[in-house]
Amino acid sequence: VEKFRNKRILILGLAKSGLAAAKVLQSIGATVIVNDNKPFEENEAAKELEKIGIEVICGGHPIEILDDHFDFIIKNPGIPYSNPIIVKAIEKGITVLTEIELAYHISQAEFIGITGSNGKTTTTTLIFEMLKQGDKKPLIAGNIGTVACEVAQNAIEENIIVTELSSFQLMGIEEFSPKIAVLLNIFDAHLDYHGTKQNYIAAKSKIFENQTKDDYCVYNLDDQNVVAAAEISKARKVAFSTKQILNNGTYIKDQTIYFDLEKIINISEIALPGKHNLENILAAVSVAKLFDVPNKAIIRVLTKFTGVKHRTQYVETIQGRKFYNDSKATNILATKAAISAFDNPIILLAGGLDRGNEFDELIEELKCVKALVVFGQTAKKLERAGKAAGIEMINHVDNVEAAVREAFDLSNEGDIILLSPACASWDQHKTFEERGDIFIDAVHKLK
Ligand code: ADP
Repeated sequence: VEKFRNKRILILGLAKSGLAAAKVLQSIGATVIVNDNKPFEENEAAKELEKIGIEVICGGHPIEILDDHFDFIIKNPGIPYSNPIIVKAIEKGITVLTEIELAYHISQAEFIGITGSNGKTTTTTLIFEMLKQGDKKPLIAGNIGTVACEVAQNAIEENIIVTELSSFQLMGIEEFSPKIAVLLNIFDAHLDYHGTKQNYIAAKSKIFENQTKDDYCVYNLDDQNVVAAAEISKARKVAFSTKQILNNGTYIKDQTIYFDLEKIINISEIALPGKHNLENILAAVSVAKLFDVPNKAIIRVLTKFTGVKHRTQYVETIQGRKFYNDSKATNILATKAAISAFDNPIILLAGGLDRGNEFDELIEELKCVKALVVFGQTAKKLERAGKAAGIEMINHVDNVEAAVREAFDLSNEGDIILLSPACASWDQHKTFEERGDIFIDAVHKLK
């Protein structure tokens, strides 16, 4: 707490995390000033903070704010480092952090941090469930739970905070160090934000930066980018691999998951579908074993847990067609993973925000797709990739709802109808959750 007590702190961006950080900082005796883009009149969070005596400046990020002295800036992960106010702050030597750094300093409990391009939420949830089954008093923070600093403030020493960390959050850490850091995979997503792949790898490897020899680094041995990123960790290394048999770490032999030399579970007993999920499962098993969770608790979770909403989520079967909502697949790697999770013929629904990339890397997987229904800004690009893959049935529609009807018309009994857009949703939707919910509604309406 000392790091922030009696300090002057500027909070940039008032999403859920900014609001929580402002309250936490005030409660530990910091002077907080909040700056948010949204005009005051429509800004409920700003009004709430003003009522408790926090100064708020709304309707833009005027650079003159920095004429005052600040010890730290805590910025929303979504505000890019190229924003003029951040550029100026760094020039002035002000340390720019994200709220996860604050969470770390106020917490009595230790952290498990999970990062990677894909699988974070699924793995975070699996770890949380396994620790819970093992009576370890875990708390969940990040994407699906509450804001980390809010969770941290209420945590006691016996708790373990399981938190999903985006690379945007990790860029704003200084001393944050998880007891166990998990790195799942590194794929060239978010290049628009990070600029180069090197920067992106560097951002992901920040999760290991402050670890010591008493900590653990759980990493994916099958991903060369991950292996490179894990090199900087001073922690004890625990590798997992879906491809190689290892002497220690977590791996698969004879269709069975092993940790070191111990058998954990046969793959056929696992409820969560998809090969890509094996990666997430191996990571989660590694963490659970490091915390001495009994095997029977791990097995109970793996035989029951069928996935998180919007992540290759089974929706319903209508006239022999199975519908899956994978709206969270906002990049090519995620969609590749979803396609390869199924053996039956797939009708793929894809499209969304155009980030400037092509879809050539998807062509190989598209060869297994029977029909393609495209929508959104990237419709034409996906259509080209579909043609290159030799798909005969390709239809261009206006939106997700129309895509569901179209897909149903094209389908036969036994087909999989899969929404896995390979794109972000912001061209037509507020969030990927909204897109997924529209898909689910449209499926229900078919009846
Ligand atoms: P994140 O939180 O990192 O976005 P999620 O667990 O929410 O990850 O999964 C998002 C999507 O990414 C899933 O719907 C699935 O299609 C894909 N996915 C999940 N895990 C993996 C993995 N280990 N490798 C590749 N793709 C994955």
